[in-house]
Amino acid sequence: MKDCNQCGKCCIKYGGGDLAASQEEIDLWEIFNPEIFDYVKKNEIWFDPKTGAKLSRCPFLEVTTENAPTAVNIYTCSIYINRPEDCRVYPSLITEMIKDDCEMIEITDLNNLDQAQTLIENKG
Ligand code: SF4
Ligand code: SF4
Repeated sequence: MKDCNQCGKCCIKYGGGDLAASQEEIDLWEIFNPEIFDYVKKNEIWFDPKTGAKLSRCPFLEVTTENAPTAVNIYTCSIYINRPEDCRVYPSLITEMIKDDCEMIEITDLNNLDQAQTLIENKG
């Protein structure tokens, strides 16, 4: 199991509609992080603060491109310290990581899913 290389696949996949935040998280954002709370509507995330439209991509996902020759995109979270619990717990299941094409996975993980699952749990 490799370390996360910030390929961004998980944030791109889940940040555009499949994330939820708890009432407690939303209440804390309202008090301490209004810049995050702006993107909450009726206790759901993420919505455009100006139009109220549901966003198809997490507004806090940022990307930089490494210098040539590989020119790989590196994704970061601009609210990392205050990101939703949903984001904090990823990755937690090897089956989900395989489905998501997570780049932490190595051939040895695919050959032994139980061991790979234990590695993920120990990384947390
Ligand atoms: S809040 Fe951060 S960790 Fe969560 S989807 Fe957005 S960019 Fe990714
Ligand atoms: S998909 Fe996997 S390797 Fe890519 S950013 Fe998410 S956790 Fe990291």
